[in-house]
Amino acid sequence: PATPDLESLQHADLADLLPHPAAESDKYRRGVVGVAAGSARYPGAAVLAVAGALRSGAGAVRYVGPAADAVLARFPETLVSDSGPKRAGRVQAWVTGPGAGDDSAPVAEALSTDVPVLLDADGLRLADVAAVRARTAPTVMTPHAGEAAALLGVAREEVESARLTAVRELARRYDATVLLKGSTTLIAGPDDATPVRVNPTGTPWLATAGSGDVLSGLTGSLLAAGLAPLDAASAAAYLHGLAGRYAANGAPTAAQDVADAIPAAWRDITA
Ligand code: AMP
Ligand code: MG
Repeated sequence: PATPDLESLQHADLADLLPHPAAESDKYRRGVVGVAAGSARYPGAAVLAVAGALRSGAGAVRYVGPAADAVLARFPETLVSDSGPKRAGRVQAWVTGPGAGDDSAPVAEALSTDVPVLLDADGLRLADVAAVRARTAPTVMTPHAGEAAALLGVAREEVESARLTAVRELARRYDATVLLKGSTTLIAGPDDATPVRVNPTGTPWLATAGSGDVLSGLTGSLLAAGLAPLDAASAAAYLHGLAGRYAANGAPTAAQDVADAIPAAWRDITA
C-alpha cells in the first residue's frame, strides 16, 4: 500500500524522541546551542531564542551578535562570543535569523558551518538557496505562511489553501527539513517518501509576537542534543504547542511565558 502522506504526532511517541541526560553527562554532551540572531533594532528576538534554548535542555547557549547586552541582562548564563559563528568556539547547532533585520552576514556564516542550523524569520529571506542546498549538516527552516509564500514567490493565500504542497515544495527546493507554522503546523523532510508530520498541540494564543523565536531556540536545542532534523522539528513543535497551552491556560500569554512553560510540557511528556 502507498505510504500515507500525513502522520499525526502522538503524545506517547514523544518521550522516546526527547533526550535524557545520562548520569555521567556534562554540558558539552548535552549540547551547546549557538544563537546568531537579533539586531540593534530587534534585540528581543535574540533574547527569546536564547530563552527557548535554555528551557529545552541545552548544556549551554553561546550568543554572537549585536544584542549581547540584552541577552546577558535577562540570561546571565549565556556565553557571549565576540566573533561570528565560524570562530565562536564549540557549538553543536546554530539558530540564526530571528530579528536579523537586513544583516545577512551572520546567517551566511552560520550556514557555512558543518553543524545543524535552524533558520527562521529574516534569515529565511537572507539565506541563499544554493548555500542551504550545499550544506553537509542538516538545515531546519521554520517559516509561517507569509514567509513560505515569499520564498516560493506566491501569494500567502496560495500557501494557506495548499499547505501540504507548500511544505513539500520548500523541503525539496532547499533540500532541508521544513516546519510550516500556523494553526496547524506541518513538518516535512527533504525525502518525499517520508510522511509529513502534523502537530496536534497548540493554541491560537500562540499567535503572539516572539512566539516563533522561542520555537527557534527550542528546535536548536534539540538539534544540538543530536536529534535527527525531522525528529527535532517534530518534538519542538509538539513541546511548543503544549507549552503554549500551559502558559495560556485559556487566557492571553506572552512569548516569554511560553518559553518558561517548556519544562512543564517536557515533564508531561516524560512523566
Ligand atoms: P511566528 O509567526 O514566527 O511568531 O510564530 C508563531 C507561532 O505561533 C508558531 O509556532 C505558530 O505555529 C503558532 N501559531 C500561530 N497562530 C496560531 C494559531 N492560530 N493556532 C495555533 N498556533 C498558532
Ligand atoms: Mg517569526
